Amino acid sequence: MKIGVLALQGDFAEHIAMLKRLKVDTIEVRLPEHLRSLDGLIIPGGESTTIGKLAVAYNLMEPLKLFGQRHAIWGTCAGAIFISKDIGRDQPLLGLMDIKVQRNAFGRQIDSFETDLDIPELKQATGTKEDYHAVFIRAPIIESVSGDAKVLASVADGRIVAAQQGHLLATSFHPELTGDTRFHEYFLSLAD
Ligand code: GLN
Repeated sequence: MKIGVLALQGDFAEHIAMLKRLKVDTIEVRLPEHLRSLDGLIIPGGESTTIGKLAVAYNLMEPLKLFGQRHAIWGTCAGAIFISKDIGRDQPLLGLMDIKVQRNAFGRQIDSFETDLDIPELKQATGTKEDYHAVFIRAPIIESVSGDAKVLASVADGRIVAAQQGHLLATSFHPELTGDTRFHEYFLSLAD
């Protein structure tokens, strides 16, 4: 199995380190040809407007959309914004997932926080019982899911922070910034 990490901007290095811990073959994706022969792609956190502008400049928009029609893609934070269909404002989006996302929904940088999430699918897939410790940094929320997208996790007040639609995954938080590899393992099961 070979997993790419979109390496235009943001914390792609942390995702690569996590995949290496899981002994997965990885490459940094910067050009359309880097998508060839990949089983899945992670789009990291960072700044979704910057990632979008660079993806346009590097002619990656169409190749990424095509890749996502057939292969697993996981967007974390800015990546979740970038793969969504609707964010209520104009910036380059892949529009792959039937989710409506609101950027910076928890407030400013100073309002970043950590919390434990009960994610039944994750526990079941990895045969574990522990909640998942999630790190939110100027995070978006998933306002709503539609089509066959389903909610994977919500914070205590009910706001959605993780969703899945077939082989597509979106998380508002940053699993690459913790020591817990379970979310990456879960994504690998979708890419398999
Ligand atoms: N606030 C950023 C955005 O809107 C996302 C933050 C992050 O990826 N940690 O793109």
